[in-house]
Formats: sequence, structure tokens, C-alpha cells
Amino acid sequence: MLDTMYHSYMLIDGEQVQALSGRVDVIYNPASQEPVGEVPVGSRQDARLALQAARRAFPAWSETSCQKRAEILHEAADLVRERTDRIARLLTQEQGKPLKNARAEVRSSADMLDYYAEEGKRNFGEWMASGQSRSIVLKQPVGVAALITPWNFPVDLLAWKVAPALAAGCTFVAKPPSKAPIAATEFVKTLIDAGLPPGAANVVHGPGSEVGAELVQSPISRKIAFTGETKTGRWIMAHAAGQIKRISLELGGQSPFIVCQDADLEKAASACTQRAFSNMGQICISVNRIYAAEEIADQFTAKLLEHTQRLRIGNGLEPDVDLGPMFSEAQREKTREHVADALAKGASLLCGGREPEGRAFEKGFFYLPTVLDNVDHSMRIMREETFGPVAPIMRFKTLEEAIALANDTEFGLAAYLFTRDLKTAIFASERLEAGGIGVNVNNVVDIQAPFGGWKQSGIGRELGHDGLEAYLETKHIRLGFEM
Ligand code: NAD
Repeated sequence: MLDTMYHSYMLIDGEQVQALSGRVDVIYNPASQEPVGEVPVGSRQDARLALQAARRAFPAWSETSCQKRAEILHEAADLVRERTDRIARLLTQEQGKPLKNARAEVRSSADMLDYYAEEGKRNFGEWMASGQSRSIVLKQPVGVAALITPWNFPVDLLAWKVAPALAAGCTFVAKPPSKAPIAATEFVKTLIDAGLPPGAANVVHGPGSEVGAELVQSPISRKIAFTGETKTGRWIMAHAAGQIKRISLELGGQSPFIVCQDADLEKAASACTQRAFSNMGQICISVNRIYAAEEIADQFTAKLLEHTQRLRIGNGLEPDVDLGPMFSEAQREKTREHVADALAKGASLLCGGREPEGRAFEKGFFYLPTVLDNVDHSMRIMREETFGPVAPIMRFKTLEEAIALANDTEFGLAAYLFTRDLKTAIFASERLEAGGIGVNVNNVVDIQAPFGGWKQSGIGRELGHDGLEAYLETKHIRLGFEM
């Protein structure tokens, strides 16, 4: 716990402000339920003030040269790195993740600023000659962007939006998650300290149904970049339709992990453990369903169990902790329900399936990493997004069967495959229905490559050059020579 309560704020027009109503909410540490800090609870009216500030700042920022914008973004990246420890500690306290992971998240956000500082310079147009006219194609910033983010990676997922938006010449209003808004606000404050002009970067807090909804429905915002639940994404898509707004939606996942007969089982088990349990399974690209070839399933399962049982769970501020608490009691309860449903339908519990014992775990939302065997697709754990630390294993006979099972979902964010055979890797990668395929790796995030979902996992792409394009509009200027 911090020595004193941290007092957070909103950022509007370059100023640190409280909500017009004066209302505040207390943020609690999910490891101990001790108070971490206070944040203002904004309303639609606060959101409107922020949107107006972003609109005022837009003309000057959009006309600032890409070199100048890059200078400020690089400066901000350096400052974020300097402040890593401070921001990371706040993140661990409000979100629960181990400090080493919080530091990595903050550093990754700084890298994002550096990457888009340079990518913003590669906003090229086109020039086409056609008889007595010429066509000039320009890419121009779309306008004020509304950036709405979830609690599982509150700093990084905001950086995925903030960096390309600013590099493209957009100004923005961000709405961090209501129960983990402090570190994200510190991150944006750092950008302002690095020299962003007033109003280019704004942050408002408050309920999604009010503050988030205003950002979506206001005629001022021209682009909505959202990461969160599929249900919320549907609402945003429907409400952005009224003004045909540009939208990018990064939504839920239910990622399969296929282990082929010829896979390096040690590497596969280690990679699978990490991707199933890191951040307590609260990652949109977590491993949610494991399909193991029946010839190696027992061996793979034994190795997975070995790796799982080595994980140390505890308060994220303690050194050498691999897993912290879950983010909330609601998340833990959903996990319990999914495990109970699977066990009632015939799954076997190999480890976990309960809270850890001891005084250190009494108050936090802890849950042991859990491995289930003998699961099938009648179980909720294989169909819905659990967002919890559970690795359910199912066996398959042929690769075609594994691919069909992997695709038997409404989601399509990430899919993983472990094999040593190039033909198998290509055959499966071309048939798996997901925006990111990891072959012999457990992560489909790479700063220079597009990230996003198929099916109900989303629309649009973040990261890479596509991430910048998401904040640009295309304009064709046709120039006739005959006056
Ligand atoms: P959520 O949808 O409940 O909330 C996300 C954000 O939207 C919050 O800031 C919330 O306040 C806001 N919001 C809620 N209702 C709104 C509305 N009507 N209008 C505008 N904004 C509104 O999601 P969450 O519980 O914070 O996050 C977990 C979800 O995020 C999971 O489903 C996970 O898979 C998904 N996620 C997806 C990705 C991805 O890249 N695809 C990454 C991380 C998390």
C-alpha cells in the first residue's frame, strides 16, 4: 500500500482537473483490498469539455510537421522510461499484476511511442498522371479520436492507440478503465510533460455507460478506438453507426493452442503455461483451449503440470512472484463457475481449481492456476471467454479435426500451433480462423505487425503501419491543367 492515498485527476486542455460534480471513487488493490487512491468520477459534461479541448487543439497539431511530432513522441518515450518504476508500482497496486510485468508493460508503452514517432514520417501519399490531369492522394488525420481501454493492460493498450493517433496528427480523449485508471493517467500526463500542446491529449474518468457513451455518441469524435468486451464492442458499433464513425474494435478471444505429434513438447509446455496463466489468464490472447495430439497428450500434460506447479503466486509487489491476484471478485467468480461447469460435465481436475490457502491470500482475489483434462465443447470453458487462469486439455486424432475444433468458436483473435513440420505449419496457419497465428511461439503481438481479430473478436488493426492508417482518411485531389 502507498504511504498516502494517491489522488488522481482528469486531464483536460493540459490541466489536471477534478470532476465538475466533485465526485470521487476509491480504487482498491485486488491483492489486499486496501485503498490505493482516489479518482474523479466524471460525467457526460466532463467528457464534452474534454472533447471540445481536443477539437480546439486539432488544427494546430494536425498541421505540425511529422518531424516535430516525432521529437515530442521520442521525448515522451524517454520520460516514460524515466518514470517506469513509479508508473509500474501504481499499475501493480491498482491492477494486481506482478511488478516485473508492470514494468515490462510501461517499457513497452515507451517503445510504442518511439515506433510511431518514426512511422508517422512514413505517411506517404500517391501521385498519378492521367492525360491533362493529375491525381494526388493524401492521407490526412481523421480528427478527434476517442480512445477507450480495458483494465487488463491499462497502460500498454492505451499506448497502442495514443501513439499512432498523435503520430497521425489526431488529438484525443482517452477513457481508461473505471477500476484501474491511475497508471494510464500518469502515462498520458508524461506525454503532456514532454511537450504536447494543451488539449492534444485529454483523459476523462467515469462509468463507461456515461463517459464512454458520450465519447462514442458526440459529433466531435470522428474515430473510436476501443479495446474491451465483445458485448461492449457491439454497443459501440451500433451507436457509432448513427454518424458513420470510423471504428476499430479489439474484442474478446478464445484462443486455441494445438500441440502436434512432432512438436518440441518441452518448449510447447513452457510456452503454453506462460500464455495460459500470465496476467492470471486475463489477456485477450491467453491460451483458452489446448488440443493435444493423442499420441503425445499424456507426455505434454505431464510437462504442462510440472511448469504450472512451479509458478509462484502472491501480492504483485513481492519479489519473484509470477502471478498476482485476479482483477476482481467478478472475474474470480466467473472462473469458478466455468471450472464447476466443466467438472460437472465430466472434466478431470489435474491441479488448482480453488483459492490458495494462507493468511496472505485471505483478502485478495487469488485463484490457483488450474489444469483440466478430458474437456469437450459442451463445456462453457471451451466456448466462452473465461478470462481466468485455466488450461483445459482435449485430445485429437488428425490435424483436420484439431483445426475444425479450433475454429469452432465465434471468436478469432489468436491461435497457436506447435509443430516441427513446415508443411503442417503452413497447412494449419492458412486454415485457422484468427487474426494472429503463432507457430512455435506463444505471442502474436509484434510492434511492427498488424494485430486484430477475425469474426467477433473485432474490426480493424492496431500496431504496425495498419495501426497508423486507422487514424488517417484518404483524400483524392484531382488537378486539371486546363483552366
Ligand atoms: P469492458 O468492455 O467492460 O470495458 C472496456 C472499456 O469500455 C472500459 O473503459 C469501460 O468503462 C468502457 N465502456 C463500458 N461500456 C461502455 C459504453 N457503453 N460505451 C463506451 N465505453 C464503454 O471490458 P473490460 O472488462 O474492461 O476488459 C476485458 C475485455 O477486454 C475482455 O473481453 C478481453 O478479451 C478484452 N480485451 C481485448 C483485447 C484485444 O486486443 N482484442 C485486449 C485486451 C482485452
